[in-house]
Amino acid sequence: MNIFDRLFDWVKNIIGGFGGEFVQKISLSSLDLENCNGVATSDGFTNTCEICVALNKTVFKSTNSPTFIHPNCKCIQVPTTLSSPSLIFDMRKITDYLFIDKNKSRMIKSMGYYPEDAQYLYDYVSLNVKKEFVKGNYILKNLNKNGQHFQINYDINGKREHANETFQCYAGCIAYPNGKIKIATALVKI
Ligand SMILES: [Zn+2]
Repeated sequence: MNIFDRLFDWVKNIIGGFGGEFVQKISLSSLDLENCNGVATSDGFTNTCEICVALNKTVFKSTNSPTFIHPNCKCIQVPTTLSSPSLIFDMRKITDYLFIDKNKSRMIKSMGYYPEDAQYLYDYVSLNVKKEFVKGNYILKNLNKNGQHFQINYDINGKREHANETFQCYAGCIAYPNGKIKIATALVKI
């Protein structure tokens, strides 16, 4: 990367971090993770790599955003706001996984939860993921053609015989365009 590219990136980041709590990454490509059905492809038309397509239109806190950068990257970051992210969260992540998978069902039972609590868990995880993301409480993980993965930690109280216990958990998420969050893994006990 030459000095001008460096300077350009530096100015872009200053502008991106200025004034807005959140920043949105904008690429020249019309492709994004959502219209690529969750697997980004490079865009030969605008010469945009698959990672920039995966990040296209995603929204993060300016102080906690993906640092992916490469020479001649045409993507910019613009300040934006985000008060209530929407979710892609399939109830079956709870009903057909947490209560079905052998290890997961043992884990969830050890917290006092039963299949009839599925809706409660769904709502609880939804609320906490949105709330913590807006506060910037997320940990960036892998970035690949499947998107920018991140982890959101939250506490949840046990139920029934475990009602007096609090459990530290996390959700595994992926950033979709316009601040939308896909919850890939709803609940993992830490
Ligand atoms: Zn790129």
